[in-house]
Amino acid sequence: MESKTVEATAVEKPVFATGDRVEQMCLKCGEERGHIVASISKKRRITRVSCPICNSRVPYKSGTARPRTPKIGAPYDQARTYRRGQTMMHPTFGEGEVTALIEPQKIDVLFADRMRRLIHSHA
Ligand SMILES: [Zn+2]
Repeated sequence: MESKTVEATAVEKPVFATGDRVEQMCLKCGEERGHIVASISKKRRITRVSCPICNSRVPYKSGTARPRTPKIGAPYDQARTYRRGQTMMHPTFGEGEVTALIEPQKIDVLFADRMRRLIHSHA
């Protein structure tokens, strides 16, 4: 058996879809955060992303994202009332950040892979 050399340049490109999450620096917020993929080219490359906090749509700059240090939030609890910017640890989806309050009992939470709508303030 001959051992294969792993080529650093041949990294498999992940396939993205709109609604997925990517890390990018938001110039408006002045912060690096998860952005939502807004549009994708025919070559399956991300062309535009939007910031869930300030809603600015910007061209995607691949390579600008750095691995961020995770802030671990408290476990998700649907009885709890969340505010925008709060973090949580969901048992299935992992770490998430509240990006919007949709209805009194619904929040949008940005997880590592994509945005999901969750219930909160649910007594
Ligand atoms: Zn922003």
